[in-house]
Parts: sequence; structure tokens; C-alpha cells
Amino acid sequence: MLRLPRLRYLRPPDARAASAAAAELGERAMLVAGGTDLFPKLKRRQMEPDTLVGLVHLRELREVRGDAAAGFELGALVTLSEAAAHPGLAGALPGYVQAAGLVSSPPLRNVGTIGGNLCVDTRCNYYDMTYEWRRSVGFCMKKDGDICLVAPGSPRCWAVSSSDTAPVAIALGATVVLAGPDGERELPVVELYRDDGIDYLTKRPHEVVTALRLPPAAGLRTAYVKLRRRGSIDFPIAGAAVALRLDGRAVRSARIVMSGVGSHPVEAPAAGAFLAGRELTPEIVAEAAELAAKPAKPLDNADLTHFWRKRMVRVVVEQALEKAAGSAQWSA
Ligand SMILES: Cc1cc2nc3c(=O)[nH]c(=O)nc-3n(C[C@H](O)[C@H](O)[C@H](O)COP(=O)(O)OP(=O)(O)OC[C@H]3O[C@@H](n4cnc5c(N)ncnc54)[C@H](O)[C@@H]3O)c2cc1C
Ligand code: SF4
Repeated sequence: MLRLPRLRYLRPPDARAASAAAAELGERAMLVAGGTDLFPKLKRRQMEPDTLVGLVHLRELREVRGDAAAGFELGALVTLSEAAAHPGLAGALPGYVQAAGLVSSPPLRNVGTIGGNLCVDTRCNYYDMTYEWRRSVGFCMKKDGDICLVAPGSPRCWAVSSSDTAPVAIALGATVVLAGPDGERELPVVELYRDDGIDYLTKRPHEVVTALRLPPAAGLRTAYVKLRRRGSIDFPIAGAAVALRLDGRAVRSARIVMSGVGSHPVEAPAAGAFLAGRELTPEIVAEAAELAAKPAKPLDNADLTHFWRKRMVRVVVEQALEKAAGSAQWSA
């Protein structure tokens, strides 16, 4: 059995104090919310802080405020189950609710938070392993080593961004509120990520995500489609989030963002531009999905073969467009 290392656990009174504590301790500390991603990684010694700065007791970060007309603000400690079951959100932004409801499995969604899901570590078959396994194959540059075992000639890490909700938040144009020791700032979710498997977040390590702000839903049609080996538990091996605005049967604007295909959530602007002004026929959807798949670069470091995953990106994008447009669109 893998055991957690001995750790100090802090319970700061608010998010600013949490950030101040994490800033003071630097690399010795990590923030933790539900711990559903972090605790298994600590057991595998993928990170080795000696202190955890706990957030889960901060009740003020557990609220959902707003409505479809004004937009929603979700506290970062709202659990994935709470987000997935929220009736107002489900009616206004079904794509977000679908993504939250497809993360992992029910027990983990009952504990895992929406803030933790935005900050979740990138994944790789050579990294998400026990310490002993990693030592036996030779460590890689994401932890304890100096080369990439997937692409040995590469100067960078290609671990995969695997958050289900981040692509939807980006497609919606959502923002996050970040608390630091000296105050708050707001950042578009799209700017929270960088294309680097190791340094995958742009926020400072001690900054606490306190809220996710989703814009007004008026006229938006949203959907998220996820491909994974099993019907539960597994991370996405390809996912597509779509936010559409329609003028009658024609597309006014479209944003398509993919999960599981790069070290950050990958947007497909060419596909969005192609769709603008066009009617959503099956042929147009297929062409847009082809364009969307181009920036997706799955490598041989996740479940199933990367050739098949690359082919399946088109399929999930097609399905997400179809789902967002709604069946009425197709039968019209
Ligand atoms: C078996 C298994 C299957 C999983 N399947 C999926 C899946 O299908 N899709 C998916 O997206 N995820 C999946 N996960 C990962 C995880 O359960 C979710 O991403 C969950 O939402 C993480 O939230 P948490 O609150 O538990 O985060 P934690 O584990 O507490 O933290 C995760 C990371 O985020 C940071 N963090 C947490 N909250 C904040 C905050 N408020 N501000 C700043 N940093 C913060 C932590 O420091 C840590 O680096 C899976 C995990 C397991 C173990
Ligand atoms: S992509 Fe390369 S460097 Fe990154 S975790 Fe995997 S093997 Fe390690």
C-alpha cells in the first residue's frame, strides 16, 4: 500500500492568508482543496512538499451566485457534484455541467472541487507512476530526471492537460479570481495555462483560485463531449468543448476548445472562424471538425494509441457541435 508522507497541514482563516502562508514557505508548501489529484501524487512522491495549505474548510468559497442573465460565480471550493447538479447552471450552460459531471467518478466528484479541476496537474504515462516504477525506467524531467522519456530529443515536457472543465470555461470566455497575499486579480481562464507540461499554469504557485466567473448565457449553446476508455473514472483521452451563438440556422460565432490533446487546453480558432456565417449542415460540421483536429497533437504518453486518439479528436468535435446545436437544428 502506498502511504502519504508525513506532512504539516495548515488551516488558514481565508484565501489571502492561505496565499501568504504558501508564499512564505515557497516550494516547501502546496495548496490543497479536495486532494483527489494531489493525495495520490504525494503517495507516489511526484511532489514532495513538507506542508499542505488547506482550503477545503473555507466555507465562503463554496457558494454559487448569479443566474443565466447576469452570469454565474462559482466559489472555487464548489464540488464537481454540486456544479453538475446545479439546476440554474444546467439550464443555462449545459456544457459546463456536462464536463463537471463527467470528471472521474461520483465519489471523487463529491470531494473534488472546480478550482482544483482548473489547476489539476498535467498527466503522462511515464510520470503518473510510483516512485519505484519511475526509478526503474530512469526518471524524466518533470520529476527527478533530466530528459523526456516520450520524446528523448525534446527540450520540453509534453505531459497532457487533462482537465474536463477547463476547455468549457475557455470556450465560454470565463475568468478566474486569484487571491494573493496583497489582494485579488481577475484573469481570463484562457490565460491561466501555458503550453508546457511542467510549468503549465501562469499563475504564481501561491495564488489561490477563489472563484470562476461564467458570463451571461443569453443565446449561448454549449456542450462537452469526452472520450475515455471506460464510462467512469478515466481522464479524457480526447474531449471537445463548444460554445455556439446562432442566428437562425447560421452560426454567428463558435469557440471550440479541446482537452487531452496538448499540454494546455487547445483552442481551434480556424474551425471557429470557418463556422462563422455558415449553416450547420453535417458536411460543414465534418469540415469544421477536420480543421479543429489540426492543432491537436496527442503523443504516445496517454491511454490508447496516439494515432487513434488523433483520429478520434474529429469525432468528439463533431459530436460536441451536434450536441450544442441541438437536435432541432438537425431536423430543421
Ligand atoms: C482516479 C482518478 C480519476 C480522475 N479523473 C479525472 C477526470 O476524468 N477528469 C479530470 O478533470 N480530473 C480527474 N481527476 C483529477 C481530480 O480528481 C479532479 O481534477 C478534481 O477536480 C481535482 O480537484 P481537487 O479539489 O481534488 O484538487 P486537489 O487534488 O486538491 O488539487 C489539485 C491541484 O490544484 C491545486 N489547487 C487546488 N485547489 C486550488 C485553488 N483553489 N487555488 C489554487 N490551486 C489549487 C493543488 O495545489 C494541486 O496542485 C481524477 C483523479 C483520480 C485520482
Ligand atoms: S512528457 Fe516527457 S518529461 Fe513530461 S512527464 Fe512525460 S516523460 Fe516526463
